[in-house]
Amino acid sequence: MLKILELVRSYSVPIRDDRISKLITWYVEALQNAIDIIWDNIEWRYCFPELVRRGGKLITNMGLKMRIPIIPRDRAFKKRLREELMKDNPYAAHWVDAVIRTAYSIMENWRKKYLRGRARKVKPRIRRRFARCKITLMKIDYQAKTIRITLRQGEYLTISWRSTWFKHRVRGWAVGEVIIKDDRIVIPFKSSEEIYVRRVIGWDSNELSLDGYEPSIGFIHVDLKPLQSIKIVYERKKAIAQSRGRRELYEKYVRRERNREKDFINKLSAGLRMLFPNTVHVLEDLDKEDLVSRKKRGKNRRKRNARTPWKRIHKRMSEVALTAYVDPSNTSRECPRCGYVVETQEGHVFECPRCGLKMNRHKVASINIRRRYLEEKRRRKRKTRMRGFPHSNEPEISMKVELWVGVTPSGRSPVIWIPMKWDPEGDEAKGRGLDIKQYQAQ
Ligand SMILES: [Zn+2]
Repeated sequence: MLKILELVRSYSVPIRDDRISKLITWYVEALQNAIDIIWDNIEWRYCFPELVRRGGKLITNMGLKMRIPIIPRDRAFKKRLREELMKDNPYAAHWVDAVIRTAYSIMENWRKKYLRGRARKVKPRIRRRFARCKITLMKIDYQAKTIRITLRQGEYLTISWRSTWFKHRVRGWAVGEVIIKDDRIVIPFKSSEEIYVRRVIGWDSNELSLDGYEPSIGFIHVDLKPLQSIKIVYERKKAIAQSRGRRELYEKYVRRERNREKDFINKLSAGLRMLFPNTVHVLEDLDKEDLVSRKKRGKNRRKRNARTPWKRIHKRMSEVALTAYVDPSNTSRECPRCGYVVETQEGHVFECPRCGLKMNRHKVASINIRRRYLEEKRRRKRKTRMRGFPHSNEPEISMKVELWVGVTPSGRSPVIWIPMKWDPEGDEAKGRGLDIKQYQAQ
């Protein structure tokens, strides 16, 4: 099966131009104005509970809100909104359309968060200074590597990426809609890659590891302890700086911690992409987990370490590799062999009271996550239910090899080695890298 992976790389070009700050000031005001108008026209509708089938049981899905916001989208409303914004617009008319589109996307984000219980019933406020351009306002010359942005008829802003350090990294890539800031212009470059899918790996995000399963590979264990070490080291450093009242030092540590975390995540994602080409990586939809855990008030909730930046890891993975997301509920409580859902979960070993399967819980979850993705795909094609592996196979016995992936001190027969700029202790160091090793399971 052929799939397309969309790749985006954003780079900024510094710029100094008085017209930019004026444009941004107008843009931010117009954007807030548009949000105000949309907000005042929201319709609050009553919503009734629905019945959902999950794992053979019927469950009442109450949702978190009884009244849900309906954002106005009809033609007449949009026409009125545009006319209102055009009244005070010194720029090209397309700028108003850019404002309207950004306003709608902000409102849509707020609505989704609100329905999940992650945002209050408060009108979004624009705090950052920026202007998002529209492709119709841009004229791109790939030969000369320049972008000409129309401010108003006959007045333009020209930027170039010809002499930038990143020009070779985006050769042949298409330019997307730029974001204008007071001191720089952020250009997203887009490209797509055709991937012939040969494998589907289910990944379970745990406290200190990513645990994967794919039948032809077996189980995969990615160690995330070094990421924890970074966090612990910087928590201590930040606490010391704070107790001494040294704000500058504290901010330096915040920046450094963020850079190291980012570096780790980038290298981990790149390593997984290199090690598992032609693969769809199935991850848990953590937004859905929020909903589930809130409803259940933490009961039976999966333990995840708050220090591990799961959303950032998942996001980076989706930027460099093909990813898919599944509902994470019950993934570590459902028997991968017979489908029985165990009520409570304690300890590291899953035991099925119906068929007697005994297995590490992370492995159970990774099989279930993978299977859930494949089942959803089949359901769309109206095919029958399937399991992660045939009933006759004992996964612990049939899966002889377990792959271990992690960032550890190098030296012991690494398969892939990517140099790291740092080590987990927080010192600038050499000789450490991303080691990916393959172990026999027993
Ligand atoms: Zn079972």
